[in-house]
Amino acid sequence: MKLTILGCYAATPRTITNPTAQVLEIKNQMFLIDCGEGTQVQLRKHKIKFSRINHIFISHLHGDHFYGLVGLISTFMLLNRENDLHVYGPKGIKELILMQLRASGSYTGYQLFFHELEGTESETVFEDEKVVVKTIPLKHRIYTNGYLFQEKNQQRKLNIEAVEKHKIDTCYYQKIKFGGDIILEDGTIILNKELTFDPEPEKSYAFCSDTVYNENILPIISEVDALYHETTFLESEAHLAEKTMHTTAKQAATIALKARVKTLIMGHYSTRYGNIELFKEEAQTIFNNVILGDDGKEIEL
Ligand SMILES: [Zn+2]
Ligand SMILES: [Zn+2]
Repeated sequence: MKLTILGCYAATPRTITNPTAQVLEIKNQMFLIDCGEGTQVQLRKHKIKFSRINHIFISHLHGDHFYGLVGLISTFMLLNRENDLHVYGPKGIKELILMQLRASGSYTGYQLFFHELEGTESETVFEDEKVVVKTIPLKHRIYTNGYLFQEKNQQRKLNIEAVEKHKIDTCYYQKIKFGGDIILEDGTIILNKELTFDPEPEKSYAFCSDTVYNENILPIISEVDALYHETTFLESEAHLAEKTMHTTAKQAATIALKARVKTLIMGHYSTRYGNIELFKEEAQTIFNNVILGDDGKEIEL
């Protein structure tokens, strides 16, 4: 699992910072999370192939999280995209995008599917044989969801010594990796647990932006490998965090601690602060394993 942060600053795009967008690569699939203005330029800068993005998850309809979407959809069209594109986001997103495409006399040559969300409980929005994606209902000024990405169906690890000892043909290796037992020619059954080791633990990533401090998310994000949690303000501006329904660095660190996550990645910094190191310092008074998210940062999970 690899995360590329394309933008992680609040409010307006600037020459030096970008609004929210991230690309998460899981087992060769690319997922785009949020699509602030300028996302397609950031994708080009980081040499991420547009054709590899088939699923876009939008947290909420504030401009700094989705004003880049219609532009990206339009560019896909100009590039003669053929793959289907799936967009997941709050109810209303379909009308907003289609209205703009209609007004500009545009149409997509590819199939564009919208998966509109209005639930207030966590739900599965995408699942295939390798990945499952669930919503994380957040509390913000408008309807907002974070997203939880979990790897699944990790194959078991082959115990080479054991399969060779039983002279098992290599054509059965795939079956064994998927948990199958083996019957030898003399009828002896070799149980899978004798032929394999437990797989590497499956990786998980939770994306939470934007939200006020909200302990209701703890059971959903419990023990994830990495939690991206917005940290718009420092504790000195806690009154602004409350008023605008955002989180401080200290509050995000408290969520990370209580959810027993492995790593906290911070972002969505208010541009009022000149030095984002202050966010790390404040968070680490509560939770040590902190990564300071920044535009262009690549993180292997
Ligand atoms: Zn925002
Ligand atoms: Zn917002």
